Amino acid sequence: MAEFSKKSASTFRIIVQWCFLFWVVGIGVRFALFIHALETGAAPLVSRPPGVEGFLPIGALVSLKYWLFSGSIHPVHPAALIIFLSILLMSLLAKKSFCSWLCPVGTLSEWAHKLGRSWFGWNFRIWRWLDFFLRGIKYFLLFFFVKLILVDMPAEALGGFLDAPYWAASDIKMLHFFTRMSVTTMVVLVSMTLLSLLFKNFWCRYLCPYGALLGLVSFVSPFKIRRNKTGCTGCQRCTAVCPSQIAVHTCTTVSSPECTGCLTCTANCPEKDVLTMQPVFWKRPLPVWIYPTVVVLIFFAGVGAGMANGYWFSSLSSADYERLISLVPYLSH
Ligand code: SF4
Ligand code: SF4
Repeated sequence: MAEFSKKSASTFRIIVQWCFLFWVVGIGVRFALFIHALETGAAPLVSRPPGVEGFLPIGALVSLKYWLFSGSIHPVHPAALIIFLSILLMSLLAKKSFCSWLCPVGTLSEWAHKLGRSWFGWNFRIWRWLDFFLRGIKYFLLFFFVKLILVDMPAEALGGFLDAPYWAASDIKMLHFFTRMSVTTMVVLVSMTLLSLLFKNFWCRYLCPYGALLGLVSFVSPFKIRRNKTGCTGCQRCTAVCPSQIAVHTCTTVSSPECTGCLTCTANCPEKDVLTMQPVFWKRPLPVWIYPTVVVLIFFAGVGAGMANGYWFSSLSSADYERLISLVPYLSH
């Protein structure tokens, strides 16, 4: 059997990224067909895909607090919490791997900067001091949401929020965000695309509060990039290719919250068993296929456990969605 090499792991990640992106697009199209049918008074030909709730991370944070306080998972959008918990678990055990393995925005962002580099011949590099300052924005946004929801929102208000039509219709509002774009939304999306062409992972590196949360959680991940100083020749290829701009060649263990476990550094290290992704407590190099398997398994095991325990399908029926559609224009933003 052919060996699963460092390069194969990198190729496998790209395959996983694109499969997941197509899957997510499929979910989006199916949900759009479901809502469009109800909006036009027709019978939907497809059922509502629960996976669409993966686009509701802020509500999932409220749902998480509700679960912690009440001990039960709110039935309106249970998949939002299940997906959120699965992604948190990925970061707890396997670095910020959601960002570089599954997140559709991460995939588009990665390919935008690759496209930008092939068009312009390079990606711009932001001055170190400005880069440091800009990276703080995503933590500031994270702080804002954590304070608003986890700290300030009283426990008694959680049920009220999750029972209200605003939360029930949040997936419809999210769909309209894309299908009925305002000029402001278009300007923001075009600006983000242009910035992503020019700067590596602009959105992920500077603005995404979800990535900030996953990065902080990933501090405790046992899996980390390890560099064996004895075999390292100091060629710095790992540092040159790292999309998160980490000085890998100077670390024995990469603990940075910016490391997404993309394995680009390990794939490009010319030395055998010098740069590896493995648990910090494991002293000998692990087979290369273990980390990719762990990453993919955690997510699907999390989602599978949610499904098996009945926390996947919303309690809302098609008739409820018909009623919600008529309410959407009156729900404040
Ligand atoms: S250190 Fe390696 S695994 Fe981490 S982000 Fe950089 S290239 Fe990817
Ligand atoms: S690519 Fe490998 S050999 Fe070169 S500096 Fe990085 S860890 Fe050392």
